[in-house]
Amino acid sequence: MTVIDQPYAYQRRELTEPDWQRFPGWADVTTAQWESAQWQRAHCVKNLRQLREVAGPGLSEAFCADLERDQRERATMSMLVPPQMLNTMAPAAGPGEPGFTEAFYADPVRRYMIPVFSDRRGDWPSHPYATRDSLHEAEMWAVEGLTHRYPTKVLAELLPTCPQYCGHCTRMDLVGNPTPTIGKLKFGMGRDDRLAAMIAYLKATPGVRDVVVSGGDVANLPWPRLEAFVTGLLDVDSIRDIRLASKALMGMPQHWLGDEVRAGMERLGARARERGVSIAIHTHVNAAQSVTPLVARAAQAMLDTGIRDVRNQGVLLRGVNDSPEALLDLSFALLDEAKIMPYYFYMCDMIPGSEHWRLSLAEAQRLQHQIMGYLPGFATPRVVCDVPYVGKRWVHQVSRYDTDLGISYWTKNYRTGVEAKDELALSREYPYYDPIYVLPEPGQEWWRARQQDPVAVA
Ligand code: SF4
Repeated sequence: MTVIDQPYAYQRRELTEPDWQRFPGWADVTTAQWESAQWQRAHCVKNLRQLREVAGPGLSEAFCADLERDQRERATMSMLVPPQMLNTMAPAAGPGEPGFTEAFYADPVRRYMIPVFSDRRGDWPSHPYATRDSLHEAEMWAVEGLTHRYPTKVLAELLPTCPQYCGHCTRMDLVGNPTPTIGKLKFGMGRDDRLAAMIAYLKATPGVRDVVVSGGDVANLPWPRLEAFVTGLLDVDSIRDIRLASKALMGMPQHWLGDEVRAGMERLGARARERGVSIAIHTHVNAAQSVTPLVARAAQAMLDTGIRDVRNQGVLLRGVNDSPEALLDLSFALLDEAKIMPYYFYMCDMIPGSEHWRLSLAEAQRLQHQIMGYLPGFATPRVVCDVPYVGKRWVHQVSRYDTDLGISYWTKNYRTGVEAKDELALSREYPYYDPIYVLPEPGQEWWRARQQDPVAVA
């Protein structure tokens, strides 16, 4: 039989839980402790001192200084890394062994969860058009925290916290603790009033059939409050799809494996089936090594509650997953070993400090092309650009693209509340921008000239 050489060689890989006891700070941690959500929450790494305590002297002083500088001068998110996630970084290296710091520096999960100053671009740390709330979600709040950005679906931001904080978080405006350079937007209303106002809006707006229940991360809402909110949604006749957004399914699978959560999800699953409504969990995994046996167990536990699906929306990040091998390895690990449906890869949004992570549209289009044909069609993730004021667009749907200046132009086919009276909303082209440092030199020069003219980049 002839074996044909392919650009990507599929190979089934067994999932592994890296040995957490390789970290000096966790040398005595038992399996029972590791699998307890309470232990994971109590031992999250929140600062450099705690990272040092876990990793021991194997992490070099130079790395620590690099991290400290980033926290002080660039970080848009404060540090919060559950042990489960930290343990998947440099999984084959022991902190006591030579080369640990180098492996830690190079690790894809480290690159987005524990960014350091030297990761970022010195020339263009931020795009001139980067903004906090780059998707204008707050501008489209129908009630506080409820973004009505598409005709038939809404995003409900229930809370501004997560069990883990990702360096590239698109909701850096609202989510997490303030950092030395970034203050955070605060909800004005109390939580219960806000959540009640969301349900009231949805009852009064039958055109909305789909609710993304998010935050933050719903894993940080006390279970009874989350169950009450989702039950409230299930009582709204027009709601047909409910998606619970939780990166913690990967970052802290112990939460979703807890007895209270599983029993509660079973109740919600049963009620949803009675009502003919689909509940799914949407998670956020960016690297194959994050898919461990515990993550697969959590996904299976959720599917066993009778919900419709567990799906993944990853983010395309340079240095993390910007190759066809990385995207396909991740998609196969999710699909084959954890029963999680690979679904979307978003281009990283244009928030401050994200340039080193962002890819150009041309790079994203190339990746989409390269991953076609390996996975089943239903599990082939779409690479999408979330264009400000437009919404998610498949990367090949661009209307026009100036590759010299790195400006793509997009159109839309629906109005949001902010354009209700805008007659040109559906004929206008909306721009999106490539990172400047990947452009040909004349394009970079064009942007440098504009940067010196504050009016041109206002
Ligand atoms: S889990 Fe999601 S909302 Fe929370 S910090 Fe990460 S990207 Fe942001």
